Order: sequence, then C-alpha cells, then structure tokens
Amino acid sequence: MSPKAEARDAEPNRIPVTAAVLSTGSELMLGQTVDTNSAWISAFLSERGVSVTRHVSVGDDLPRLTEAVADCFARCEITLVTGGLGPTEDDLTRLAVSRTLNSSLVFQPLLAEEIDRHMTTRGYKFSDNNLRQAWLPGGSRLVPNPWGTAPAFAVENDERLMVFMPGVPQEMKNIMRSWVAPNLERKYSSRLRVRLTTVLRVAGLGESRVDEIIGHIIRDSSNPTLGLLAGPYETRILVTAEGKTREETERIGAPTIEEIISLIGDNYVGRDGETMVSTSVKMLQDRGLKLGLIDCVTGGQAAEPFLKILPKENLAAALVVSPAQIKTEVERLFVQFDADLVGVVSRPELTESSAASTDEDEEFSVRSQLFQKIEGEAKDETEVAKEIAVADRLVGRASVQAKTRAGAFMTWQLWTFLKSLSPKG
Ligand code: ATP
Repeated sequence: MSPKAEARDAEPNRIPVTAAVLSTGSELMLGQTVDTNSAWISAFLSERGVSVTRHVSVGDDLPRLTEAVADCFARCEITLVTGGLGPTEDDLTRLAVSRTLNSSLVFQPLLAEEIDRHMTTRGYKFSDNNLRQAWLPGGSRLVPNPWGTAPAFAVENDERLMVFMPGVPQEMKNIMRSWVAPNLERKYSSRLRVRLTTVLRVAGLGESRVDEIIGHIIRDSSNPTLGLLAGPYETRILVTAEGKTREETERIGAPTIEEIISLIGDNYVGRDGETMVSTSVKMLQDRGLKLGLIDCVTGGQAAEPFLKILPKENLAAALVVSPAQIKTEVERLFVQFDADLVGVVSRPELTESSAASTDEDEEFSVRSQLFQKIEGEAKDETEVAKEIAVADRLVGRASVQAKTRAGAFMTWQLWTFLKSLSPKG
C-alpha cells in the first residue's frame, strides 16, 4: 500500500479519544510552581493519538476543584489529574471527587497499612494526618504508587476514565508509564494511534518565506499535518504523522519529509536533534577545521552549546566576555575547560565602579593571550573558521532576547560560512 493510501487507512472516520488535563495546587495559581506536569502528560497522550482538548488549573479550593473535576469528566473521555493527594488540610482532591460522584470517602485499611509501612521503612513517623490518605472516594479504585505515600486512584465507567495522581513529577510519570499507558491500551486500543512529530530545521529563512515554499503541502496534507515555529535565524517545520504502528507512521511521514527537504534546498539544517550548532561541529570535523570563538555579546550563551560538544582537536581557543556582575555564573559554565583554551573575562567598565576592578591587568592579559592564540590560528583561514560576534558594546546592556538573537545570528553566520567550504578530500 502506498504511504498516501496508508495515511487514509490509518485515519478513516476515526474519532480521536479526547482528554482533559487538570492540575491543582495554589502554588500553581501563585506562579510558584510551573505546571510542567500538564505539558508532560499532554505530550504523552499526544504520542498515542489522544486529542488533549482541555487544560485546567485550579487552586486548593473545594468548590472550584469539584466544579473543575465534574466539568472535565462531563466533557472528555479521559481526565488526568495531578496534585492535592497529600496528607494536609489543603489536599482536597479526594473530597472533590467524592462530591462529584455523590459518594462518601471510604476507609481502606490495607492502604493505611501500606502507607504506614512505606513511611516506617523510610524512617518517618506515621501520623493521624497520614490516615487521611487512606480514605478514597467510594466507587474509585486504588492505583499503585510504590514511589511515594500519596495514593493514586482511578474512576472509570464504560466510556470514561479519570486518574488522580500525586503532583510530584517523578511519581506522576512512573504512574503514567506503568498504569495509565496499559489501561489506555485496554480501554481505547482501536482508537489509539502512534503519533510521531519530526522537526525539520531551516536556517536563515523566516516563517513567511517557508510558508511560501511549502504552503501547498501544508494546505493539502491531513496526515501528516504540518506546523511552523519561528525562531531567530531558524524556522522549524513540525511534521506530525499518525499510523497504527511506529513503522506505518514512519512510512506515512517519509514522502512529505523528503519533499520538504528537497524544496528547502541549501537552507535545510537537519531533523530533530540536528541543530545549526551540532551540524556546524560536524562540518568542522569533516573539513578538519578548528574553531576560534569569541563570544563578546551573549555572556557565554552562544559559546556554551558549541563548547559542550566540540572535540578538543577542533577548538583553537575560546574567549567569553562577560559582564562583571555575572562573571562567576558564566565561569561556572566553562569550569571543565583548560583556562588556556577557554577564557572568561569580565568587562570592568560595566561594574558599578570601574575603578573597583583590581583584576583588570590580569584579565587584560588573559584576553590578549587568547586573542593572539585565536588570531595566530586564524592566519591560515582554511584551518580556522573564525567567528567574531556583533559589537562588544552590547555586552551586559542587551536584553535576554537581544542576546538570544545575537547568539543565533553568530551561529547562523558560522553555519553558512562552513556550508560554503568544501569537505576535506
Ligand atoms: P504529595 O503527597 O507528595 O504532597 P500531592 O498530590 O499533594 O502529593 P502536591 O502537594 O500538590 O502533590 O505537589 C507536590 C510537589 O509536586 C509540589 O511541591 C511541586 O513541586 C510538584 N508539583 C505539583 N504540581 C505540579 C505541576 N502541575 N507541575 C510540576 N510540578 C508540580
């Protein structure tokens, strides 16, 4: 069967399973905790072809939490909830669920023993508070959580499944893999799919130019679907295919991916983890070149990804110019490198009082030695790909966005330069 026919066959009038992700906790409302649980759960469901149609977050407030649980249950086939299962007064999820189900909380003696055992073996004292966790909503069933004391539980009817998990990310992830995944498979297997997203990276073309080049594919394709993500000096094309198996999904996506790569031509960087940085490093290796790197704008933000993966033999020397105020932080990024290969110097004129800098002479010497090293290597241009970033004066005054942009500009220039050289031999 051709990939196009397979794509149609994988889809036929399939109604995707819908899901809601509900996170609870007042710390989310206060901005103290970033809701990474919802993002992780959504990616997990999306890879299985489930359509996440709602994200809801509520604080530790019983009426609001009850309303949110009931609303998600009414609207979506799957609801995955995190947080509020601890032993304290503000852990209200059990109560909200029993209200939604119109049931009461039921004491689970075996669960109480399990929590007691879990705490005792870890040297904690079992308190009356912990007993609260042994009460589960009538009509729910226990979901094993050997990774923590907060009991997870599930509520299920013919069509729907709700799972309540602790907020601690690692516990939630373990439960998702060990319990939720097989239960989704059991309950919805005929409607699940393998969904794979391939990221194609394009250098130096803006989103609208990419849209002009591949817009017709975006319009005409429903499996895979395409999306564009704009970034500085890079546009990413997301190609998302669905199939019944991983192999089928890869087959369905492949022709579209190939067509896009050929239309993008010289501006194509690579897919997924193949970034401008990693492909530049590969080109340096293929061409037997050394990189001399002077990062005087981004406080090391641009240099770091290169230095992380660049083999020693492909580095001439690197000099990172950092605002004096954050020099220790920047130095920490490069602590694993020899000081005569990678130097971090501050710009004394950016300290509150320039006169206060006693290290000026020493820094000047580090800076000039590394400059000489880079310049010396650079004499032979075929051996050294030398990249000097935008103006020195930007250091420390530039906003985070300006630094990101400057770093991306520098990376893009280097990538373009290396592309223009032919590989060795
Ligand atoms: P426990 O019994 O372990 O306390 P719990 O279900 O009561 O579990 P919470 O008290 O709500 O969970 O959260 C525990 C910790 O998990 C929080 O301090 C926070 O660091 C983290 N956490 C909670 N919710 C989220 C979330 N949505 N995203 C990321 N981290 C979270």
